[in-house]
Amino acid sequence: MRLTEYFLPTLKEVPKDAEIVSHQLMLRTGMIRQSSSGIYIWLPFGHAVLKKIEQIVREEQVNAGAIELLMPTIQSADLWKKSGRYDDYGAEMLRMKDRHNREILYGPTNEEQITDISSHYFKSYKSLPKILFHIQWKFRDEVRPRFGVMRCKEFLMKDSYSFDVTEEDGKLSYNKMFLSYLKTFQRLGLKAIPMAAESGPIGGNLSHEFIVLANTGESKVYIDKRILDMNIPDEIDYQKDSENIVSKWTEFYTVTDDMYEQDSYESKVEEKNRLEMRGIEVGHVFYFGDKYTKPLNANVQDKDGVTKPIQSGSYGIGVSRLVAAIIEASHDDKGIIWPKSVSPFDYALICLNSKNEELVELCDMIYKKMKSKCAILYDDTSSSIGEKLNKMDLIGIPKQIILGNKSIERKSLEIKDRKTGTVEVQSVEAFLEIFEND
Ligand code: ATP
Ligand code: MG
Repeated sequence: MRLTEYFLPTLKEVPKDAEIVSHQLMLRTGMIRQSSSGIYIWLPFGHAVLKKIEQIVREEQVNAGAIELLMPTIQSADLWKKSGRYDDYGAEMLRMKDRHNREILYGPTNEEQITDISSHYFKSYKSLPKILFHIQWKFRDEVRPRFGVMRCKEFLMKDSYSFDVTEEDGKLSYNKMFLSYLKTFQRLGLKAIPMAAESGPIGGNLSHEFIVLANTGESKVYIDKRILDMNIPDEIDYQKDSENIVSKWTEFYTVTDDMYEQDSYESKVEEKNRLEMRGIEVGHVFYFGDKYTKPLNANVQDKDGVTKPIQSGSYGIGVSRLVAAIIEASHDDKGIIWPKSVSPFDYALICLNSKNEELVELCDMIYKKMKSKCAILYDDTSSSIGEKLNKMDLIGIPKQIILGNKSIERKSLEIKDRKTGTVEVQSVEAFLEIFEND
């Protein structure tokens, strides 16, 4: 993509009303624009990052055995009345009426709708287990939307739902999702720590929040630092390995403030391993048994011919919140530093002098060669050197290929790593070899 043809409305000034760095940087890099309170337009650069994250989330769901479908954003109020949540959900739910005066709502989540689906299709143990997911916009009329897309009204969520015959199988599904979250966040370049979360009033519930450590996070967390050194194997057999891996991760006493008890923390975590910080909730896994299947009559016949409520869980990831969380975790005073996996462009190509015809010709040639092999943003504008370099640092593409007047004579270019700032000089010829046809 040539910058002269792209739509990247960057700002030089730090916007006054943006409090946290990710919000400031998303506005400055022209990723988003507020449409109305808590509702955002995703401009091309922001949209491209969002889609990259969405795709990684999707792939790791599929790897863990989940199946994608798509449910509508608008739901009928009837199902919510049956589950009892129509009243409980309160003012966060956007309620509407259609032209026939029927009550409808913009879905804040989809437990009711998916449970209704399960009640129609999963009648025998033979059709289970199943994990279904979709990636869809949600609306929650948050009382205080803030921090840009971090806490807004309309946001993109990946939500999965597991359906099993027995509690034991249900826990296996929970562990599969838990593990797929560890994988997902790792691929996104994030350290997201699973923490025991409040599991609500129903006994036997199991729940973990996945939290990215950041000073600007809304949750206070108390962790055993040793969890930061944990890794996950590259090759995973979800069926066989999930329980084992999850039990290793959940050995550590790491909790959010809802669950925090000073005595337990101090007795379970040695002083040198304690870390109190703030964090951003990017995901939530929840096993709730028959909480929704019972009131919505989603029953299954087990192997012995006994009919009983399906065992179920739900698993959310804040896809759009992740865009901001990644920036909070990966930036410096110059701007964003995208992890390779989510950057919309693999390379930035910068022609420092657009008046030097020979140089422009060389850059154009390099651009053409690279374009077919990778995603590249080519600054072919006539802006000043300083402006060009600053803009590329601001938008955070991992590798910058820089050519100036001297590049002609020396037949060389500079490869700058955005994260470390290190610059490597290479001959144009050697650099282009990696983009030659195989
Ligand atoms: P929170 O405590 O932050 O309000 P929640 O418990 O209401 O989150 P869930 O219902 O579990 O969130 O939703 C799943 C995920 O969706 C969350 O982990 C979070 O990443 C994201 N999310 C929830 N509310 C918002 C919001 N208002 N704006 C952006 N993302 C959100
Ligand atoms: Mg909430």
